[in-house]
Amino acid sequence: MNAFTLNRRTIMLSAVVGAPTLFVAGGGGAEAQSPPSPASGNAGHYRFRVGDIGATVLSDGVIGGPPRVYASDAPEAELQEVLRRAFLSTDHMTLNLNTLLIETGGRRILVEAGAGATMGPNGGRIFQNLAAIGLGPADIDAIVISHTHPDHIGNLRTASGGKSFPWATVFVPRADWDFFVRNDPDLSYMPVPEDFRRRFAAAIKSSLEPVGKDVELYDAGAEIVPGLTTIVASGHTPGMATFLVHSGNDQLLLTADLAYHPVVNVDNPWRPGPDRDKDTALASRRRIFDRAAADRIPVLGFHFPFPGLGRMLKTDGGYAWVPANWQF
Ligand SMILES: [Zn+2]
Repeated sequence: MNAFTLNRRTIMLSAVVGAPTLFVAGGGGAEAQSPPSPASGNAGHYRFRVGDIGATVLSDGVIGGPPRVYASDAPEAELQEVLRRAFLSTDHMTLNLNTLLIETGGRRILVEAGAGATMGPNGGRIFQNLAAIGLGPADIDAIVISHTHPDHIGNLRTASGGKSFPWATVFVPRADWDFFVRNDPDLSYMPVPEDFRRRFAAAIKSSLEPVGKDVELYDAGAEIVPGLTTIVASGHTPGMATFLVHSGNDQLLLTADLAYHPVVNVDNPWRPGPDRDKDTALASRRRIFDRAAADRIPVLGFHFPFPGLGRMLKTDGGYAWVPANWQF
């Protein structure tokens, strides 16, 4: 056996021995107990810090629909060309569901609950991604919702109608509660079939029904806990808020549904069809994107490609999305 063979064999052995150790250290015991499934093939969680605050993007999976829904005023030929140039499907746009867990002051706060099964079969992965970092639904102390569309609240209800997160206080914007829950809203502004609108409206009420007693209504602008402030961003819905996570000199801006996909709503200025008041939504988008660009604040886009982190760059004609580099 020559030196080369010996070295190569040693390296291979240490790689085999090393792999399980890394697996346990990175994922904790819970991950090892999860049943193997195609969904667990790649990481669905991404940890980083905002000053003293621990932050983890937890994917709830994906939803999607025709690109036209998310770019309602785009000229057809231009939309097709933009999608082709970005190597995206021209007939289906995939949207991620990037919920954010923040750990601060001894509390675990989830920002957005995710879609669950309300918007198709590819949501509801938040639970396995929580398990992958060694946590379960009972470990969540509070859930803060940007707006009450089903893809942001669907996981609040279990399949049997109970509470998914047994101990969590659920913070909901007051204007959305009044519009979607206390009333029967006219959703004819949404560019989707009538039966979709009906199911959409019903999913909002049924998702919130089991947590009715645990809801705390807030007005955008309020601070939820030290380090988590809500920002007025109405237009998409009457009450939609975006969020600023802050600690020391570090900040993170969560843009909720000011934009669905960076290719159509950041790199191009098109307006999402589901925006109820499109002019107000566009004004909110510009005000908050301008702040992110001017102050160079890291941004988390709820529907952007996982993990949805990056920055807004101001360009001559608008903005450009610059994804963050992966941190190990
Ligand atoms: Zn959404």
